[in-house]
Amino acid sequence: MGNPSVKDRIEKSRSAVSMLTEQTGAKLKVRSAVVLLVAVCLSMTAIAIWEAWNSRQYHLHDKEVAMSNLAQTLASQARASIKQADTLLFALVDRLENDGMGPAQLPRLQRLLMAQRSELSQLHGLFVFDEKGRWFANSNGANLPDANNSDREYFIFHRDHPDRGPHIGPSIKSRSSGEWIMTVSRRLNYPDGRFAGVALATIYLNHFLTLYDNIDMGRNGVINLIADDASIVVRRPFNEAEIGSSVAKGPLFTQLLPKGDSGTATVKSYVDGVERVVGFRRVEGYPLVIFAALDKEEVLTGWRAETMLSAGIVSLLLGFLSFLGFRLIRLMKQQNQVQSVLLDAQEKLIEVNRSLELLALEDALTGLSNRRQFDLFILAEMGRARRTQTSLALLMIDVDHFKSFNDQSGHLAGDECLRKISAIITDNIKRPGDLAARYGGEEFAVVLPGTDYVGAFLVAEKIRRAVQQAGIAHSTSPEGTVTVSLGVCAYDPAAQAQPDDLIGAADKALYVAKASGRNMSVIAN
Ligand code: GH3
Ligand code: MG
Ligand code: MG
Repeated sequence: MGNPSVKDRIEKSRSAVSMLTEQTGAKLKVRSAVVLLVAVCLSMTAIAIWEAWNSRQYHLHDKEVAMSNLAQTLASQARASIKQADTLLFALVDRLENDGMGPAQLPRLQRLLMAQRSELSQLHGLFVFDEKGRWFANSNGANLPDANNSDREYFIFHRDHPDRGPHIGPSIKSRSSGEWIMTVSRRLNYPDGRFAGVALATIYLNHFLTLYDNIDMGRNGVINLIADDASIVVRRPFNEAEIGSSVAKGPLFTQLLPKGDSGTATVKSYVDGVERVVGFRRVEGYPLVIFAALDKEEVLTGWRAETMLSAGIVSLLLGFLSFLGFRLIRLMKQQNQVQSVLLDAQEKLIEVNRSLELLALEDALTGLSNRRQFDLFILAEMGRARRTQTSLALLMIDVDHFKSFNDQSGHLAGDECLRKISAIITDNIKRPGDLAARYGGEEFAVVLPGTDYVGAFLVAEKIRRAVQQAGIAHSTSPEGTVTVSLGVCAYDPAAQAQPDDLIGAADKALYVAKASGRNMSVIAN
Protein backbone atom coordinates (compact mmCIF):
# COMPACT_ATOMS: atom_id res chain seq x y z
CA MET A 1 0.00 0.00 0.00
CA GLY A 2 2.90 2.40 0.86
CA ASN A 3 4.80 2.26 -2.46
CA PRO A 4 2.44 4.26 -4.72
CA SER A 5 2.26 7.25 -2.34
CA VAL A 6 6.08 7.54 -2.09
CA LYS A 7 6.27 7.36 -5.87
CA ASP A 8 3.58 10.01 -6.07
CA ARG A 9 5.48 12.35 -3.79
CA ILE A 10 8.72 11.95 -5.77
CA GLU A 11 6.85 12.58 -9.01
CA LYS A 12 5.13 15.64 -7.57
CA SER A 13 8.34 17.24 -6.28
CA ARG A 14 10.11 16.42 -9.56
CA SER A 15 7.49 18.24 -11.60
CA ALA A 16 7.54 21.19 -9.13
CA VAL A 17 11.35 21.43 -9.50
CA SER A 18 11.13 21.39 -13.29
CA MET A 19 8.43 24.13 -13.27
CA LEU A 20 10.56 26.27 -10.95
CA THR A 21 13.56 25.78 -13.24
CA GLU A 22 11.52 26.83 -16.28
CA GLN A 23 10.24 29.99 -14.54
CA THR A 24 13.74 30.95 -13.34
CA GLY A 25 15.07 30.36 -16.88
CA ALA A 26 12.39 32.65 -18.34
CA LYS A 27 13.19 35.43 -15.83
CA LEU A 28 16.91 35.10 -16.64
CA LYS A 29 16.14 35.44 -20.36
CA VAL A 30 14.24 38.71 -19.76
CA ARG A 31 17.07 40.01 -17.58
CA SER A 32 19.66 39.08 -20.25
CA ALA A 33 17.60 40.91 -22.88
CA VAL A 34 17.47 44.05 -20.67
CA VAL A 35 21.23 43.88 -20.02
CA LEU A 36 21.90 43.41 -23.74
CA LEU A 37 19.68 46.37 -24.68
CA VAL A 38 21.27 48.66 -22.10
CA ALA A 39 24.78 47.54 -23.17
CA VAL A 40 24.03 48.23 -26.85
CA CYS A 41 22.59 51.69 -26.06
CA LEU A 42 25.54 52.59 -23.81
CA SER A 43 28.05 51.37 -26.42
CA MET A 44 26.37 53.41 -29.16
CA THR A 45 26.40 56.50 -26.94
CA ALA A 46 30.04 55.95 -25.98
CA ILE A 47 31.06 55.51 -29.64
CA ALA A 48 29.14 58.67 -30.64
CA ILE A 49 30.80 60.69 -27.85
CA TRP A 50 34.23 59.31 -28.78
CA GLU A 51 33.68 60.15 -32.45
CA ALA A 52 32.53 63.68 -31.60
CA TRP A 53 35.54 64.25 -29.35
CA ASN A 54 37.95 62.98 -32.03
CA SER A 55 36.34 65.14 -34.67
CA ARG A 56 36.62 68.18 -32.35
CA GLN A 57 40.34 67.51 -31.79
CA TYR A 58 40.80 67.08 -35.54
CA HIS A 59 39.04 70.41 -36.27
CA LEU A 60 41.20 72.26 -33.72
CA HIS A 61 44.40 70.60 -34.91
CA ASP A 62 43.57 71.37 -38.52
CA LYS A 63 43.17 75.08 -37.75
CA GLU A 64 46.32 75.13 -35.62
CA VAL A 65 48.25 73.85 -38.63
CA ALA A 66 46.57 76.47 -40.84
CA MET A 67 47.50 79.24 -38.36
CA SER A 68 51.07 77.99 -38.15
CA ASN A 69 51.38 78.10 -41.96
CA LEU A 70 49.79 81.55 -42.07
CA ALA A 71 52.17 82.85 -39.38
CA GLN A 72 55.10 81.59 -41.43
CA THR A 73 53.86 83.29 -44.61
CA LEU A 74 53.11 86.58 -42.83
CA ALA A 75 56.48 86.51 -41.05
CA SER A 76 58.20 86.18 -44.45
CA GLN A 77 56.10 88.99 -45.85
CA ALA A 78 56.85 91.31 -42.89
CA ARG A 79 60.51 90.47 -43.09
CA ALA A 80 60.63 91.22 -46.81
CA SER A 81 58.77 94.56 -46.42
CA ILE A 82 60.94 95.74 -43.53
CA LYS A 83 64.12 94.40 -45.10
CA GLN A 84 63.58 96.55 -48.19
CA ALA A 85 63.29 99.71 -46.08
CA ASP A 86 66.10 98.67 -43.78
CA THR A 87 68.43 98.04 -46.71
CA LEU A 88 67.93 101.67 -47.76
CA LEU A 89 68.60 102.78 -44.18
CA PHE A 90 71.77 100.74 -43.99
CA ALA A 91 73.11 102.34 -47.16
CA LEU A 92 72.03 105.79 -45.95
CA VAL A 93 73.83 105.40 -42.63
CA ASP A 94 76.97 104.23 -44.39
CA ARG A 95 76.86 107.19 -46.75
CA LEU A 96 76.24 109.81 -44.01
CA GLU A 97 78.98 108.43 -41.78
CA ASN A 98 81.50 108.47 -44.62
CA ASP A 99 80.50 111.73 -46.34
CA GLY A 100 79.56 113.60 -43.18
CA MET A 101 76.44 115.71 -42.54
CA GLY A 102 77.72 119.07 -43.80
CA PRO A 103 75.35 121.55 -45.51
CA ALA A 104 77.03 120.73 -48.84
CA GLN A 105 75.63 117.23 -48.75
CA LEU A 106 72.08 118.28 -48.05
CA PRO A 107 70.58 118.98 -51.51
CA ARG A 108 72.01 115.74 -52.95
CA LEU A 109 70.86 113.76 -49.92
CA GLN A 110 67.40 115.24 -50.11
CA ARG A 111 67.08 114.19 -53.78
CA LEU A 112 68.37 110.72 -53.02
CA LEU A 113 65.86 110.21 -50.24
CA MET A 114 62.98 111.33 -52.46
CA ALA A 115 64.09 109.02 -55.24
CA GLN A 116 64.47 106.04 -52.95
CA ARG A 117 61.13 106.58 -51.31
CA SER A 118 59.28 106.51 -54.59
CA GLU A 119 60.82 103.09 -55.31
CA LEU A 120 58.97 101.35 -52.48
CA SER A 121 55.20 101.61 -52.20
CA GLN A 122 55.12 100.60 -48.51
CA LEU A 123 57.56 103.37 -47.63
CA HIS A 124 55.95 106.41 -46.05
CA GLY A 125 59.21 108.31 -45.71
CA LEU A 126 62.96 108.40 -45.04
CA PHE A 127 64.27 110.86 -42.45
CA VAL A 128 67.60 111.92 -40.98
CA PHE A 129 67.82 113.65 -37.59
CA ASP A 130 70.98 115.17 -36.07
CA GLU A 131 72.20 114.43 -32.55
CA LYS A 132 69.77 117.05 -31.14
CA GLY A 133 66.76 115.57 -32.89
CA ARG A 134 66.49 118.32 -35.44
CA TRP A 135 65.27 117.48 -38.96
CA PHE A 136 68.32 117.22 -41.19
CA ALA A 137 66.90 115.69 -44.34
CA ASN A 138 63.70 113.89 -45.43
CA SER A 139 62.19 112.27 -48.46
CA ASN A 140 59.01 114.35 -48.34
CA GLY A 141 60.73 117.62 -49.29
CA ALA A 142 59.39 119.22 -46.13
CA ASN A 143 61.47 122.07 -44.70
CA LEU A 144 60.73 122.35 -40.98
CA PRO A 145 63.63 124.19 -39.34
CA ASP A 146 61.94 124.21 -35.91
CA ALA A 147 60.76 120.61 -35.90
CA ASN A 148 62.39 118.38 -33.33
CA ASN A 149 61.98 114.64 -32.89
CA SER A 150 64.23 114.17 -29.83
CA ASP A 151 61.15 113.11 -27.83
CA ARG A 152 60.39 110.14 -30.11
CA GLU A 153 60.99 106.67 -28.73
CA TYR A 154 63.38 105.65 -31.57
CA PHE A 155 65.51 108.80 -31.01
CA ILE A 156 65.83 108.21 -27.27
CA PHE A 157 66.58 104.52 -27.90
CA HIS A 158 69.48 105.16 -30.32
CA ARG A 159 70.85 108.03 -28.25
CA ASP A 160 71.03 105.72 -25.23
CA HIS A 161 72.05 102.46 -27.01
CA PRO A 162 75.26 102.12 -29.02
CA ASP A 163 73.82 99.10 -31.02
CA ARG A 164 74.15 99.46 -34.80
CA GLY A 165 71.29 97.09 -35.65
CA PRO A 166 67.87 98.13 -36.87
CA HIS A 167 65.36 99.22 -34.25
CA ILE A 168 61.60 98.92 -34.57
CA GLY A 169 59.76 101.28 -32.31
CA PRO A 170 56.12 101.57 -31.40
CA SER A 171 53.85 102.52 -34.28
CA ILE A 172 53.03 106.20 -34.32
CA LYS A 173 50.94 108.78 -36.11
CA SER A 174 53.13 110.71 -38.52
CA ARG A 175 53.78 114.36 -37.61
CA SER A 176 54.23 115.14 -41.24
CA SER A 177 51.18 113.34 -42.74
CA GLY A 178 48.98 112.24 -39.81
CA GLU A 179 48.99 108.63 -40.99
CA TRP A 180 49.70 105.53 -38.87
CA ILE A 181 53.22 104.34 -39.53
CA MET A 182 55.75 101.82 -38.34
CA THR A 183 59.27 103.06 -37.67
CA VAL A 184 62.52 101.29 -38.59
CA SER A 185 65.58 103.22 -37.48
CA ARG A 186 69.36 102.99 -37.25
CA ARG A 187 71.86 105.01 -35.23
CA LEU A 188 74.29 107.47 -36.86
CA ASN A 189 77.74 107.75 -35.31
CA TYR A 190 80.55 110.26 -35.58
CA PRO A 191 83.87 108.69 -36.56
CA ASP A 192 84.82 108.60 -32.85
CA GLY A 193 81.66 106.57 -32.05
CA ARG A 194 79.67 109.40 -30.50
CA PHE A 195 75.96 109.62 -31.22
CA ALA A 196 75.46 111.68 -34.36
CA GLY A 197 71.74 111.25 -34.96
CA VAL A 198 69.16 108.82 -36.33
CA ALA A 199 68.22 107.57 -39.81
CA LEU A 200 64.57 106.60 -39.93
CA ALA A 201 62.38 104.76 -42.41
CA THR A 202 58.64 104.85 -41.84
CA ILE A 203 56.33 102.20 -43.31
CA TYR A 204 52.57 102.62 -43.77
CA LEU A 205 50.68 100.39 -41.33
CA ASN A 206 48.13 100.20 -44.11
CA HIS A 207 50.65 98.23 -46.13
CA PHE A 208 50.20 95.40 -43.59
CA LEU A 209 46.55 96.04 -42.79
CA THR A 210 45.45 95.83 -46.43
CA LEU A 211 47.10 92.42 -46.69
CA TYR A 212 45.75 91.23 -43.35
CA ASP A 213 42.22 92.38 -44.17
CA ASN A 214 42.29 90.28 -47.34
CA ILE A 215 42.85 87.10 -45.36
CA ASP A 216 39.67 85.30 -44.25
CA MET A 217 40.02 85.12 -40.49
CA GLY A 218 36.33 84.75 -39.70
CA ARG A 219 34.40 87.38 -37.75
CA ASN A 220 36.59 87.33 -34.69
CA GLY A 221 40.03 86.34 -36.01
CA VAL A 222 43.16 88.33 -35.18
CA ILE A 223 46.51 89.02 -36.85
CA ASN A 224 49.08 90.82 -34.73
CA LEU A 225 52.54 92.09 -35.53
CA ILE A 226 54.15 92.59 -32.14
CA ALA A 227 57.51 94.07 -31.22
CA ASP A 228 59.95 92.17 -29.01
CA ASP A 229 59.11 94.51 -26.13
CA ALA A 230 55.50 93.18 -26.35
CA SER A 231 54.01 96.39 -27.79
CA ILE A 232 51.49 95.94 -30.58
CA VAL A 233 52.84 97.26 -33.90
CA VAL A 234 49.92 96.31 -36.16
CA ARG A 235 46.69 94.60 -35.26
CA ARG A 236 43.83 93.36 -37.36
CA PRO A 237 41.08 94.32 -36.63
CA PHE A 238 42.58 97.85 -36.46
CA ASN A 239 41.87 99.88 -33.34
CA GLU A 240 43.94 103.01 -32.74
CA ALA A 241 43.75 102.61 -28.95
CA GLU A 242 45.45 99.22 -29.08
CA ILE A 243 48.46 100.30 -31.17
CA GLY A 244 51.50 100.48 -28.93
CA SER A 245 49.75 98.83 -25.99
CA SER A 246 51.64 96.05 -24.25
CA VAL A 247 50.70 92.38 -24.32
CA ALA A 248 53.64 91.40 -22.09
CA LYS A 249 51.26 89.69 -19.68
CA GLY A 250 49.42 87.82 -22.43
CA PRO A 251 49.91 84.10 -23.11
CA LEU A 252 52.17 84.76 -26.14
CA PHE A 253 54.91 86.25 -24.00
CA THR A 254 54.24 84.35 -20.76
CA GLN A 255 53.62 80.84 -22.17
CA LEU A 256 54.39 80.45 -25.85
CA LEU A 257 57.54 82.41 -26.76
CA PRO A 258 59.53 81.08 -23.76
CA LYS A 259 59.08 77.62 -25.31
CA GLY A 260 60.16 78.46 -28.85
CA ASP A 261 60.30 80.93 -31.72
CA SER A 262 57.28 79.40 -33.45
CA GLY A 263 54.39 77.15 -32.57
CA THR A 264 50.67 76.64 -32.18
CA ALA A 265 48.30 76.56 -29.22
CA THR A 266 44.78 77.29 -28.06
CA VAL A 267 44.88 80.21 -25.61
CA LYS A 268 42.76 82.98 -24.17
CA SER A 269 43.49 86.44 -25.54
CA TYR A 270 44.96 89.01 -23.17
CA VAL A 271 43.38 91.83 -25.18
CA ASP A 272 39.72 90.74 -25.46
CA GLY A 273 39.50 87.57 -23.38
CA VAL A 274 38.42 85.44 -26.37
CA GLU A 275 39.80 81.90 -26.61
CA ARG A 276 41.63 81.42 -29.90
CA VAL A 277 43.49 78.84 -31.96
CA VAL A 278 46.87 80.46 -32.44
CA GLY A 279 49.91 80.21 -34.72
CA PHE A 280 52.97 82.42 -34.06
CA ARG A 281 56.48 82.93 -35.40
CA ARG A 282 59.37 85.35 -34.86
CA VAL A 283 60.27 87.49 -37.88
CA GLU A 284 63.78 86.45 -38.81
CA GLY A 285 66.38 89.18 -38.35
CA TYR A 286 63.97 91.69 -36.74
CA PRO A 287 62.66 92.07 -33.20
CA LEU A 288 59.13 91.18 -34.25
CA VAL A 289 56.66 88.38 -33.75
CA ILE A 290 53.73 87.59 -36.04
CA PHE A 291 50.67 86.10 -34.41
CA ALA A 292 47.61 84.73 -36.30
CA ALA A 293 44.59 83.46 -34.39
CA LEU A 294 41.06 82.21 -35.11
CA ASP A 295 38.18 82.36 -32.65
CA LYS A 296 37.89 78.86 -31.19
CA GLU A 297 34.09 79.13 -31.10
CA GLU A 298 34.07 79.95 -34.82
CA VAL A 299 36.46 77.09 -35.55
CA LEU A 300 34.10 74.75 -33.74
CA THR A 301 30.93 76.07 -35.39
CA GLY A 302 31.22 73.62 -38.29
CA TRP A 303 32.12 70.82 -35.95
CA ARG A 304 29.18 71.68 -33.70
CA ALA A 305 26.70 71.54 -36.57
CA GLU A 306 28.19 68.21 -37.72
CA THR A 307 28.05 66.84 -34.17
CA MET A 308 24.47 68.00 -33.63
CA LEU A 309 23.47 66.22 -36.83
CA SER A 310 25.18 62.97 -35.88
CA ALA A 311 23.87 63.26 -32.28
CA GLY A 312 20.38 63.65 -33.73
CA ILE A 313 20.81 60.57 -35.92
CA VAL A 314 22.27 58.53 -33.04
CA SER A 315 19.43 59.67 -30.73
CA LEU A 316 16.86 58.62 -33.33
CA LEU A 317 18.55 55.24 -33.70
CA LEU A 318 18.76 54.85 -29.92
CA GLY A 319 15.10 55.77 -29.57
CA PHE A 320 14.10 53.29 -32.26
CA LEU A 321 16.30 50.58 -30.75
CA SER A 322 14.93 51.22 -27.24
CA PHE A 323 11.39 51.14 -28.59
CA LEU A 324 11.97 47.80 -30.30
CA GLY A 325 13.90 46.47 -27.30
CA PHE A 326 11.22 47.40 -24.79
CA ARG A 327 8.51 45.95 -27.00
CA LEU A 328 10.50 42.74 -27.22
CA ILE A 329 11.02 42.64 -23.47
CA ARG A 330 7.33 43.31 -22.87
CA LEU A 331 6.44 40.50 -25.24
CA MET A 332 8.87 38.21 -23.43
CA LYS A 333 7.30 39.17 -20.09
CA GLN A 334 3.81 38.55 -21.44
CA GLN A 335 4.96 35.23 -22.84
CA ASN A 336 6.43 34.35 -19.45
CA GLN A 337 3.15 35.25 -17.76
CA VAL A 338 1.20 33.09 -20.20
CA GLN A 339 3.73 30.33 -19.66
CA SER A 340 3.40 30.55 -15.89
CA VAL A 341 -0.41 30.51 -16.16
CA LEU A 342 -0.11 27.45 -18.39
CA LEU A 343 2.30 25.84 -15.93
CA ASP A 344 -0.15 26.53 -13.09
CA ALA A 345 -2.95 24.99 -15.09
CA GLN A 346 -0.73 22.05 -15.92
CA GLU A 347 0.10 21.60 -12.24
CA LYS A 348 -3.58 21.66 -11.34
CA LEU A 349 -4.36 19.17 -14.07
CA ILE A 350 -1.67 16.87 -12.79
CA GLU A 351 -3.19 17.20 -9.32
CA VAL A 352 -6.67 16.43 -10.61
CA ASN A 353 -5.29 13.51 -12.61
CA ARG A 354 -3.63 12.14 -9.55
CA SER A 355 -6.87 12.34 -7.55
CA LEU A 356 -8.72 10.68 -10.40
CA GLU A 357 -6.12 7.95 -10.51
CA LEU A 358 -6.50 7.42 -6.78
CA LEU A 359 -10.25 7.37 -7.15
CA ALA A 360 -9.93 4.85 -9.93
CA LEU A 361 -7.81 2.58 -7.75
CA GLU A 362 -9.67 3.02 -4.48
CA ASP A 363 -12.96 1.61 -3.29
CA ALA A 364 -15.27 4.49 -2.44
CA LEU A 365 -17.10 2.80 0.46
CA THR A 366 -14.21 1.28 2.41
CA GLY A 367 -11.13 3.19 1.24
CA LEU A 368 -9.41 -0.14 0.47
CA SER A 369 -7.96 -0.84 -2.98
CA ASN A 370 -10.66 -1.66 -5.51
CA ARG A 371 -10.98 -4.68 -7.76
CA ARG A 372 -8.99 -3.04 -10.55
CA GLN A 373 -6.04 -2.29 -8.27
CA PHE A 374 -6.29 -5.83 -6.87
CA ASP A 375 -6.18 -7.39 -10.37
CA LEU A 376 -3.10 -5.35 -11.34
CA PHE A 377 -1.41 -5.97 -8.02
CA ILE A 378 -1.88 -9.71 -7.88
CA LEU A 379 -0.69 -10.09 -11.45
CA ALA A 380 2.46 -8.08 -10.69
CA GLU A 381 3.13 -9.91 -7.42
CA MET A 382 2.68 -13.33 -8.99
CA GLY A 383 5.23 -12.38 -11.64
CA ARG A 384 7.63 -11.16 -9.01
CA ALA A 385 7.22 -14.23 -6.81
CA ARG A 386 7.85 -16.41 -9.83
CA ARG A 387 10.97 -14.49 -10.81
CA THR A 388 12.46 -14.14 -7.36
CA GLN A 389 11.19 -17.53 -6.17
CA THR A 390 9.65 -16.01 -3.10
CA SER A 391 6.39 -17.00 -1.55
CA LEU A 392 3.06 -15.27 -1.98
CA ALA A 393 -0.28 -15.91 -0.30
CA LEU A 394 -3.86 -14.84 -0.87
CA LEU A 395 -6.75 -14.59 1.62
CA MET A 396 -10.34 -14.48 0.39
CA ILE A 397 -12.73 -13.19 3.07
CA ASP A 398 -16.54 -13.35 3.03
CA VAL A 399 -18.88 -12.01 5.71
CA ASP A 400 -21.12 -14.71 7.20
CA HIS A 401 -24.89 -14.41 6.89
CA PHE A 402 -24.60 -10.93 5.66
CA LYS A 403 -27.77 -11.00 3.65
CA SER A 404 -29.78 -11.47 6.83
CA PHE A 405 -27.74 -8.75 8.56
CA ASN A 406 -28.77 -6.38 5.81
CA ASP A 407 -32.31 -7.54 5.94
CA GLN A 408 -32.48 -6.94 9.66
CA SER A 409 -30.37 -3.84 10.18
CA GLY A 410 -30.77 -2.16 6.82
CA HIS A 411 -28.32 -1.38 4.03
CA LEU A 412 -26.77 1.64 5.74
CA ALA A 413 -25.87 -0.43 8.80
CA GLY A 414 -24.60 -3.09 6.39
CA ASP A 415 -22.33 -0.49 4.76
CA GLU A 416 -21.12 0.67 8.16
CA CYS A 417 -20.37 -2.94 9.08
CA LEU A 418 -18.35 -3.37 5.86
CA ARG A 419 -16.32 -0.24 6.74
CA LYS A 420 -15.58 -1.63 10.24
CA ILE A 421 -14.45 -4.98 8.82
CA SER A 422 -12.22 -3.13 6.30
CA ALA A 423 -10.56 -1.21 9.14
CA ILE A 424 -10.03 -4.47 11.07
CA ILE A 425 -8.44 -6.10 8.00
CA THR A 426 -6.14 -3.07 7.45
CA ASP A 427 -5.13 -3.10 11.13
CA ASN A 428 -4.10 -6.72 10.91
CA ILE A 429 -1.84 -6.56 7.89
CA LYS A 430 1.34 -4.86 8.97
CA ARG A 431 3.78 -5.13 6.09
CA PRO A 432 4.02 -2.20 3.68
CA GLY A 433 3.97 -4.58 0.71
CA ASP A 434 0.62 -6.15 1.68
CA LEU A 435 -2.55 -5.16 -0.13
CA ALA A 436 -6.14 -5.34 1.12
CA ALA A 437 -8.88 -4.94 -1.46
CA ARG A 438 -12.65 -5.03 -1.67
CA TYR A 439 -13.15 -7.89 -4.09
CA GLY A 440 -16.85 -7.29 -4.53
CA GLY A 441 -20.03 -6.98 -2.37
CA GLU A 442 -19.12 -8.21 1.11
CA GLU A 443 -16.05 -10.11 -0.09
CA PHE A 444 -12.47 -9.00 0.57
CA ALA A 445 -9.08 -10.18 -0.65
CA VAL A 446 -5.71 -9.77 1.00
CA VAL A 447 -2.48 -10.29 -0.96
CA LEU A 448 0.52 -11.13 1.24
CA PRO A 449 3.85 -11.05 -0.70
CA GLY A 450 6.76 -12.92 0.90
CA THR A 451 4.36 -14.99 3.03
CA ASP A 452 3.84 -18.76 2.95
CA TYR A 453 0.59 -20.58 3.80
CA VAL A 454 1.52 -20.86 7.50
CA GLY A 455 2.06 -17.12 7.86
CA ALA A 456 -1.02 -16.44 5.76
CA PHE A 457 -3.12 -18.72 7.94
CA LEU A 458 -1.92 -16.83 11.07
CA VAL A 459 -2.94 -13.52 9.50
CA ALA A 460 -6.31 -15.04 8.50
CA GLU A 461 -6.94 -16.20 12.03
CA LYS A 462 -5.95 -12.83 13.47
CA ILE A 463 -8.47 -11.14 11.19
CA ARG A 464 -11.21 -13.65 11.94
CA ARG A 465 -10.75 -13.31 15.70
CA ALA A 466 -10.56 -9.56 15.53
CA VAL A 467 -13.87 -9.40 13.60
CA GLN A 468 -15.54 -11.64 16.12
CA GLN A 469 -14.07 -9.68 19.02
CA ALA A 470 -15.34 -6.45 17.48
CA GLY A 471 -18.75 -7.70 18.63
CA ILE A 472 -20.92 -6.21 15.91
CA ALA A 473 -24.34 -7.47 16.91
CA HIS A 474 -25.99 -9.93 14.48
CA SER A 475 -29.00 -11.64 16.08
CA THR A 476 -29.62 -14.19 13.34
CA SER A 477 -26.04 -15.38 13.36
CA PRO A 478 -25.32 -18.43 15.53
CA GLU A 479 -22.52 -16.49 17.19
CA GLY A 480 -24.73 -13.44 17.90
CA THR A 481 -22.10 -11.18 16.28
CA VAL A 482 -20.80 -10.61 12.80
CA THR A 483 -18.14 -13.14 11.78
CA VAL A 484 -16.14 -13.84 8.65
CA SER A 485 -14.97 -16.98 6.86
CA LEU A 486 -11.56 -17.06 5.16
CA GLY A 487 -9.98 -19.16 2.42
CA VAL A 488 -6.18 -19.21 2.52
CA CYS A 489 -4.05 -20.19 -0.44
CA ALA A 490 -0.26 -20.07 -1.01
CA TYR A 491 0.79 -19.38 -4.54
CA ASP A 492 2.15 -22.34 -6.44
CA PRO A 493 3.86 -21.15 -9.63
CA ALA A 494 3.86 -24.65 -11.09
CA ALA A 495 0.12 -25.15 -10.80
CA GLN A 496 -1.22 -21.59 -11.01
CA ALA A 497 -0.39 -19.78 -14.23
CA GLN A 498 -3.06 -17.05 -14.02
CA PRO A 499 -4.39 -14.94 -11.12
CA ASP A 500 -7.75 -16.70 -11.57
CA ASP A 501 -6.09 -20.02 -10.69
CA LEU A 502 -4.87 -18.65 -7.39
CA ILE A 503 -8.12 -16.81 -6.67
CA GLY A 504 -10.13 -19.93 -7.55
CA ALA A 505 -8.06 -22.04 -5.17
CA ALA A 506 -8.57 -19.54 -2.32
CA ASP A 507 -12.30 -19.38 -3.13
CA LYS A 508 -12.53 -23.14 -2.86
CA ALA A 509 -10.99 -23.04 0.60
CA LEU A 510 -13.46 -20.28 1.51
CA TYR A 511 -16.31 -22.50 0.30
CA VAL A 512 -15.03 -25.28 2.50
CA ALA A 513 -14.97 -22.86 5.47
CA LYS A 514 -18.57 -21.87 4.74
CA ALA A 515 -19.63 -25.46 4.36
CA SER A 516 -17.84 -26.42 7.54
CA GLY A 517 -19.84 -24.04 9.68
CA ARG A 518 -18.43 -20.54 8.97
CA ASN A 519 -16.33 -18.28 11.27
CA MET A 520 -13.16 -20.17 10.39
CA SER A 521 -10.06 -20.10 8.19
CA VAL A 522 -9.36 -22.95 5.80
CA ILE A 523 -6.12 -23.54 3.87
CA ALA A 524 -6.52 -24.71 0.28
CA ASN A 525 -5.78 -28.43 -0.12
P1 GH3 B 1 -22.95 -16.55 3.62
O1 GH3 B 1 -22.70 -16.72 5.06
O2 GH3 B 1 -23.12 -17.87 2.90
O3 GH3 B 1 -21.95 -15.75 2.95
O4 GH3 B 1 -24.32 -15.88 3.56
P2 GH3 B 1 -24.59 -14.48 3.05
O5 GH3 B 1 -25.92 -13.97 3.42
O6 GH3 B 1 -23.46 -13.53 3.44
O7 GH3 B 1 -24.57 -14.70 1.56
P3 GH3 B 1 -23.75 -13.96 0.52
O8 GH3 B 1 -22.31 -14.02 0.82
O9 GH3 B 1 -24.20 -14.43 -0.80
O10 GH3 B 1 -24.30 -12.52 0.81
C1 GH3 B 1 -24.42 -11.53 -0.16
C2 GH3 B 1 -25.15 -10.40 0.47
O11 GH3 B 1 -24.28 -9.37 0.88
C3 GH3 B 1 -26.10 -9.76 -0.50
C4 GH3 B 1 -26.26 -8.43 -0.01
O12 GH3 B 1 -27.35 -8.28 0.81
C5 GH3 B 1 -24.98 -8.16 0.82
N1 GH3 B 1 -24.19 -7.17 0.25
C6 GH3 B 1 -23.35 -7.31 -0.82
N2 GH3 B 1 -22.75 -6.11 -1.05
C7 GH3 B 1 -23.21 -5.20 -0.13
C8 GH3 B 1 -22.97 -3.84 0.12
O13 GH3 B 1 -22.21 -3.17 -0.56
N3 GH3 B 1 -23.64 -3.29 1.16
C9 GH3 B 1 -24.48 -3.92 1.93
N4 GH3 B 1 -25.08 -3.34 2.94
N5 GH3 B 1 -24.74 -5.20 1.71
C10 GH3 B 1 -24.11 -5.88 0.70
MG1 MG C 1 -20.72 -13.43 -0.38
MG1 MG D 1 -21.49 -13.86 2.88
